[in-house]
Amino acid sequence: MHKAAVIYGDGIGPEICDATLQVIETSGARVSWEEVLIGERARQKLGAELPVESLEKIRRIGVALKAPLSAERCSGGVRVEVEGEVRHYPSINNGLRRALGLFANLRPVRGWAGVSGPYQNLDLALVREVTEDLYIGLERRVDDDSAEAIKRISGSASRRVTRFACDYALRAGRKKITAVHKANVLHLTDGLFLESVRSVVSDYPALTFDDLMVDATCYHLVKRPEMFDVLVLPNQYGDILSDLAAALAGSLGLAPGANLGPGVAVFEAAHGAAPDLAGQGLANPIGLILSGALLLEHLNETESAERIRRGVTAALSDERYLTADLGGRASTAELTRAICELMQNE
Ligand code: NAD
Repeated sequence: MHKAAVIYGDGIGPEICDATLQVIETSGARVSWEEVLIGERARQKLGAELPVESLEKIRRIGVALKAPLSAERCSGGVRVEVEGEVRHYPSINNGLRRALGLFANLRPVRGWAGVSGPYQNLDLALVREVTEDLYIGLERRVDDDSAEAIKRISGSASRRVTRFACDYALRAGRKKITAVHKANVLHLTDGLFLESVRSVVSDYPALTFDDLMVDATCYHLVKRPEMFDVLVLPNQYGDILSDLAAALAGSLGLAPGANLGPGVAVFEAAHGAAPDLAGQGLANPIGLILSGALLLEHLNETESAERIRRGVTAALSDERYLTADLGGRASTAELTRAICELMQNE
């Protein structure tokens, strides 16, 4: 029996989280879940969106499944008191990742027969640095007419995430790393990122390497996605390109992800809390279900993870089970039931 934390999240979070726990149970994996409060539930019960005791629980357990959290109530950011020191973060997700030392956000993206149209063969992974760049939250109003934000890039964080991307590439049987940047304009910041990536990939002779401007990357992702394998990106470009890649695959609702750092792994879908769908039972749970499969792989429950992927593949090839984001009419519960039955009957 494995132990893992579960964060039910906000908006559509609780609905897709229930669906994911049901699918994981049906997969045969034995996981005992401990709920950890973060977000709106935490604010109501513990008086803070990102309580330090919740962070400690995740750190102690080491593995968590996290449904999306809403930033609606935290327009001024969140504050966390760690060992007497108060830290401010621009959002709950940003704070969760940085407070737990989760420096790499892995987002594998693949196409699916039936829902991905011309991108059925899409198969790539984005590795996004998530501790720095423009998202450190250092902004200021300069005067009545202008504001500015600090973009911080360090060689150490850039090399660390590149090493992660290269090790992941080797483990996953992938062959190529592409560094995404805008070093022709941002000479010092993106220039340092690129230089750092180059200094690390030279230690991995089994991988080929190239680099591309972020705008050209968007163009080629749409026109020739087969040229990509693993992309390594600074925080902001990674945030934006993850959604673009998810859209190519058919829907943001299909995209899984993982936040990884020393001794802690938090698995979450790439999408947000989708307040427009909350409480209606219409959200696509597959992004979180596939994040659950990544969690099981992390726990060495490879068989169960594969069973889940086969169930998802089978459900997506039958239009009766597609949710509205994929052009269908199925509810979250109908799609979840179909995945579970397809797993049981295979
Ligand atoms: P969003 O991802 O929630 O929604 C964007 C669009 O995609 C919406 O039209 C939504 O209906 C749709 N969508 C998203 N997930 C879907 C799913 N599973 N099934 C079907 N359709 C889905 O992005 P947003 O609207 O920019 O953000 C909403 C809230 O979520 C904000 O408070 C934001 O801060 C938060 N957010 C959280 C995370 C996270 O927890 N990792 C990530 C992004 C945004």
